[in-house]
Amino acid sequence: MTDSPLEACGLCAGVIVEAHGETIATAKITLGIANQAHSAVRFVMNPYEQLQTLELIESSQMDLIAIYHSHPTGPEVVSVTDITEAAYAVVHIVWSPKVDDWQARGFWIEEERVSEVALQIL
Ligand SMILES: [Zn+2]
Repeated sequence: MTDSPLEACGLCAGVIVEAHGETIATAKITLGIANQAHSAVRFVMNPYEQLQTLELIESSQMDLIAIYHSHPTGPEVVSVTDITEAAYAVVHIVWSPKVDDWQARGFWIEEERVSEVALQIL
């Protein structure tokens, strides 16, 4: 999940279920994509790999449910750049270091407004 000290990034695909007024998205697969920015503070998904991955997700009859990337040196929340560059209506997962491990937090970004989404690691 990480390419520390560089930012890692990728897509999560799975199924989305609407039940009792709640949306529950369950990730089935996580697909890493090269960060062509090769940066510790920024990610730019390789567009060719991103397109290939989106086609794979579609042909597997799954939905794109999240975009993840890491912040090897924090913060544990989305950055201003993440908010302004958010292009997909999916959960944005940020991985950041926590003591000896990594933690994931999920955010919904809509019209530059951010709300945290509960993540459950199964
Ligand atoms: Zn970020």
